[in-house]
Amino acid sequence: MNFFKKLFTKEKKESLDKGLKKSKDSFFNKISKVIVGKSRVDDEVLDDLEEILISSDVGVKTTLKIIDHIEERVKKDKFLNSDELDLILKEEITRIICDSEDENEFLSISNDKPHVILVVGVNGVGKTTSIGKMANHYKSLGHKVMIGAADTFRAAAIDQLQVWSERVGVDLVKQEMGSDPASVSFDTLESAINKNIDVVLIDTAGRLHNKTNLMNELGKIKRVLKKKNVNAPHEVLLVIDGSTGQNAFEQAKQFTNVTEITSLAVTKLDGTAKGGVVLGISDQFNIPIKFIGVGEGIDDLQVFNKKEFVDSFFKKS
Ligand code: GDP
Ligand code: GDP
Ligand code: MG
Repeated sequence: MNFFKKLFTKEKKESLDKGLKKSKDSFFNKISKVIVGKSRVDDEVLDDLEEILISSDVGVKTTLKIIDHIEERVKKDKFLNSDELDLILKEEITRIICDSEDENEFLSISNDKPHVILVVGVNGVGKTTSIGKMANHYKSLGHKVMIGAADTFRAAAIDQLQVWSERVGVDLVKQEMGSDPASVSFDTLESAINKNIDVVLIDTAGRLHNKTNLMNELGKIKRVLKKKNVNAPHEVLLVIDGSTGQNAFEQAKQFTNVTEITSLAVTKLDGTAKGGVVLGISDQFNIPIKFIGVGEGIDDLQVFNKKEFVDSFFKKS
C-alpha cells in the first residue's frame, strides 16, 4: 500500500466516523441505558434491544432476525454478560448485511466497455449529486467517464449535472429539456463508444407517481441501450435516502417491483440517526450496497465496505 492510499484510507475513515456519528450516538445511548446495572443478558435486555433496533430504523423483520440469533447464543451461554452483548451484536449485524457474490467483480467495471450504470430513484434522494461523486470516484481510479443527462424533465436537473461534469472534468451528453430520456441515453452510449469511454453514468428522473409510467420509461431506456450493447446497462443502481427511514424501504420495494436493481447507494447517512436502514434494506432486499453518502462534499460518497461500516459504528468514541 503506498503513502497516498494510506492517507486516503485515513480520510475515508474519518469521514465515515463523522457521517455515522448521529446514528451511532443515538443507538449506543439507548443501549447503555438498557444494560446499566445488568450483569447478564436476560429477557428484559433482549426486549429492550428489540425496541432499540426497531426505533433505529433497522426494520421489524431484520430486527427479529437479529434478536433470534442473539437469543440462541444467550441460551447456549447462560452467563453472557452485557460486555459480550456488544460483541455479539456486532457479529450479528455484520452477518445480516448482504454480500455481493464476488466482491471484486461487484466493485470493478466490466471488461465489456463502456460499463453502463443506470441510476434510478425517487426525486430528491441524491441521484444527481451521487452521479457527480461517482464520476469523481471512477475518474480517480483512472477511468474515462461520461455522464448522460436523461432526467430531462427540468432544465435545472441538466444544469446541475453540467456543473458536476465541469467540476469533475468529465464529458456530459445532454439534449433539450423535455426531450426523450431514452434518446439521451442512446446518444450517450453512442458517444461513449466512439470516444472509448470506460464508465457511463446515466441520470434519470425520479417521479414515482405512476408505476406504469416509471416502468415504461426505465424499460425504454434499457431497450435502446441494448441496441448499442446487449449487455447494457451493466448495473442498475438504486439511490435511496437513508434519512427517510422507513420510507426508504418503501422506495426500495417500489423500484424492485418495476425493474431489476443490481446495487444500492444509500445517501444522507450524515445528519440522521436512522443509519439502521442500511442493515434492514440490505437484509430484506438482498441487494448489495455499493456506495454510501456521508456528506455533501465530492469525497463524501464512499465505496461501502461492510467491515469498515460496522467497525466505525461500534468504535467507542
Ligand atoms: P436527485 O433529485 O435524486 O437527483 O437528488 P440531488 O442529487 O439533486 O440531491 C438532493 C439534495 O440532497 C441535494 O441538496 C444534495 O446536496 C443532497 N445530498 C445528496 N447526497 C447527500 C449526502 O450523502 N449527504 C447530505 N448531507 N446531502 C446529500
Ligand atoms: P411532483 O411534485 O410529484 O408533481 O413532481 P414535479 O412535477 O415537481 O417533478 C419532480 C421530478 O419528477 C422532476 O424533477 C423530474 O425529475 C420528475 N418528473 C416529473 N414528471 C415527469 C415526467 O412526466 N417524465 C419524467 N421523465 N420525469 C418527470
Ligand atoms: Mg436529479
